[in-house]
Amino acid sequence: MHDLIIIGGGPAGVAAGVYAARKRLKSVLVTEEFGGQSTVSEGIENWIGTVRIAGPELAHSLKAHLEAYKGDVVEVVEGDRVEKLEKAADGFSVSTRDGKSFAGRAVLIASGAGRKKLAIPGADTFENKGVTYCASCDGPLFSGQDVVVVGGGNAGFETAAQLLAYCKSVTLIHRRDSFKADAITVEKVLAHPNMTALTNTEPVEVKGDKFVSGLVVKNIETGETRELAITGVFAEIGVIPNTDYARGVVDLDTVGRVVTNPRNQTTSVEGIWAAGDATDELYHQNNIAAGDAVKALEDIYQWTMRNR
Ligand SMILES: Cc1cc2nc3c(=O)[nH]c(=O)nc-3n(C[C@H](O)[C@H](O)[C@H](O)COP(=O)(O)OP(=O)(O)OC[C@H]3O[C@@H](n4cnc5c(N)ncnc54)[C@H](O)[C@@H]3O)c2cc1C
Repeated sequence: MHDLIIIGGGPAGVAAGVYAARKRLKSVLVTEEFGGQSTVSEGIENWIGTVRIAGPELAHSLKAHLEAYKGDVVEVVEGDRVEKLEKAADGFSVSTRDGKSFAGRAVLIASGAGRKKLAIPGADTFENKGVTYCASCDGPLFSGQDVVVVGGGNAGFETAAQLLAYCKSVTLIHRRDSFKADAITVEKVLAHPNMTALTNTEPVEVKGDKFVSGLVVKNIETGETRELAITGVFAEIGVIPNTDYARGVVDLDTVGRVVTNPRNQTTSVEGIWAAGDATDELYHQNNIAAGDAVKALEDIYQWTMRNR
């Protein structure tokens, strides 16, 4: 029986693992891989305390940090995937794709999320070559360029607002006739002279040679297609949280993120905490994921001491 089962090895999971080791909480951390979503990034420039770090290097340093402190307190299971989380007699049990199972009094869900990807020709080929899913990470690379944002929700408009600070022009396309984003945000963003929005419009194909040079879009009402001459495509069409294994056990919001109390990362079930992109936290960044996990560990430690 472990004190704690940590699911995930991104910034949230690793921060939790390091704190668990230092607090001598007998834990197991199960992760498919180390580093999390931003490991695909060429350069991360906002990981506090580090001027710039390449994604794979971040993964390496997170793993090394955990390895340095885990001792015989934190068992690490890498390359496996949690497929089921269940309530058990005196805590929880977790089972994995490779047939392992673990019992723990507490669980931290830190399995993050994946961005919903554009499912159109060229989107895969040009991913990280002009097609991107994170404006605060990659936006500055497109300084002075013409770019498109796909998605008319708050994420799309916030992305457009960020990009307007340095891009030559931003065209936002949205497949419906009205935007899902808050009216005040829409109004503010659309007032910018370098901003254009196209409603009833969907992306059809990403064009380019080595890098993106255009996006073919289609007007859903008229059927007319045309190519926008742009060099960046920022897709903000939603996220898919990695929480299927927790469905039915803990409360999830309408898009599958674990509902948490932001004061201490507790969930609807006593004994289960969650941190990072797997949760309904408003902002998704590496530092926030790690910070939320630290908050959770402080709380898990107190709870464990009371319940041991
Ligand atoms: C392309 C891109 C670039 C980004 N760049 C930046 C940036 O520059 N700066 C910044 O602050 N933020 C950036 N972000 C956002 C940042 O990556 C996330 O906010 C952060 O990674 C969230 O950390 P996390 O630990 O909650 O989850 P994740 O990073 O998603 O990590 C989840 C971990 O859990 C594992 N996992 C998933 N499911 C399971 C399962 N069922 N069982 C076991 N393990 C599982 C995964 O292998 C992964 O290791 C970027 C995001 C993207 C998509």
